Amino acid sequence: MTRQQYHSNGTDAESDSIDWEKAQRATRMLLEAVGEDPDRDGLKDTWERRVPAAFKTLTEGNRDAEKPDMRTFVAETNDLVIKTGIPVYSLCEHHILPYHGVAHIAYRPDGDIVGLSKLARYVRWRSRRLTVQEGLTADIAEGLADEVDAEAVRVELTATHLCEAMRGVETASETTTQSTVGELTENERRRFRSAVDSHE
Ligand code: ZN
Repeated sequence: MTRQQYHSNGTDAESDSIDWEKAQRATRMLLEAVGEDPDRDGLKDTWERRVPAAFKTLTEGNRDAEKPDMRTFVAETNDLVIKTGIPVYSLCEHHILPYHGVAHIAYRPDGDIVGLSKLARYVRWRSRRLTVQEGLTADIAEGLADEVDAEAVRVELTATHLCEAMRGVETASETTTQSTVGELTENERRRFRSAVDSHE
């Protein structure tokens, strides 16, 4: 099979994908900009396939078609739902480098809940974009409040930013951000704190 220098994956025009050809072109240019030869053996697949494919996956949060099914079911109580230790992988929008860590979520249902595994899938989807940690934390809290129609949601996210760690610009290795929609009671805040602390 012969290939054009830049080729389409056939879905460029659709909103459920990325502009594949532009991603190839841009990766090639970045390689050239840093003094690499994009046509050497080790790099051919890098710009032609691997980087566009990786960025397609890692920006799924931009596309509603990739959102997990957040079907709810009837809650038997409005007791606080707590899920700790959800893995988070995102790309910082300043450097397009990864930051990663864990999210802890609590919400007080108003009649509806989602499966606990959906919380992790929702966090993964929301994280797959270019973000700043504070904004991602708020987006997860607000998005979940909306999806589950919860009375209150609390999200805490602790992450290591590779743009800081790899460049050696920061000594602090972890950043924690929090976001709340609605208001947790004193007792609910204590329960969440205790769940998060016992996770760590
Ligand atoms: Zn950064």
